Amino acid sequence: MSDLEILLIPVMSDNYIYLVHDSDSGETAAVDPAEAAPVLDALARKGWTLTHILNTHHHGDHTGGNMELKNASGCTIIGAAADAARIPGIDVQVADGDGVQIGDHRAVVFDVPGHTSGHIAYWFEGASALFPGDCLFSLGCGRLFEGSAEQMWRSLLKLRALPDDTRIYPAHEYTNANADFALSIDAANPALKRRADEVVKLRQAGKPTLPALMGEEKACNPFLRADSSDLLAATGLSGQDPVSAFAEIRRRKDNF
Ligand code: ZN
Ligand code: FE
Repeated sequence: MSDLEILLIPVMSDNYIYLVHDSDSGETAAVDPAEAAPVLDALARKGWTLTHILNTHHHGDHTGGNMELKNASGCTIIGAAADAARIPGIDVQVADGDGVQIGDHRAVVFDVPGHTSGHIAYWFEGASALFPGDCLFSLGCGRLFEGSAEQMWRSLLKLRALPDDTRIYPAHEYTNANADFALSIDAANPALKRRADEVVKLRQAGKPTLPALMGEEKACNPFLRADSSDLLAATGLSGQDPVSAFAEIRRRKDNF
């Protein structure tokens, strides 16, 4: 299989846009283009032509560049069928289990509601790359703007079922703040301490903390561990069912 090159473009205060480029076919997708100009600059620099936009959800910091990029390139905009009315310029509507093709590379779509009602994630199985938008962050998860704790927990379980070597490309650089919260409730977790140290070093060097690794997130991210007896003991939530525990951990983060 040909290479899938993934280029990270930092934009606005803490967003990332990703360019996903299949070297054989030349097809190139922008994941959650918050803005058009930085994407057009990166495309020109790389000599790539935009063929697709993959949106994870409707928020402006994920779709703001859609129309300008479509007008400039004629690219195809792919987004959630469940939220088609709120995705600017949407051409192709996808839902859980659908496939999206970028050259040779197929991404599987997951419905992952919770942050918004129509949120989706894209998993490039062959390249072991996951684009979870604002559902899953490194050491964190999205706020529950339009969904329940139960929906979000189920969404996170779907992503947690992916292989440990899955590289995770979330749409925000929130890892440092997430690490502070995670340490505040799970200070004795050695895997978390390792990741938090690494995150501090990366940020001090001006580098992104992403992609994150699914295997590490399973061990460190409190929002993937609402069914871990260790974390429940550390947070005084022993005996709670995972949905209640997840809801309480999310509340604590909201108030952190
Ligand atoms: Zn969002
Ligand atoms: Fe966002």
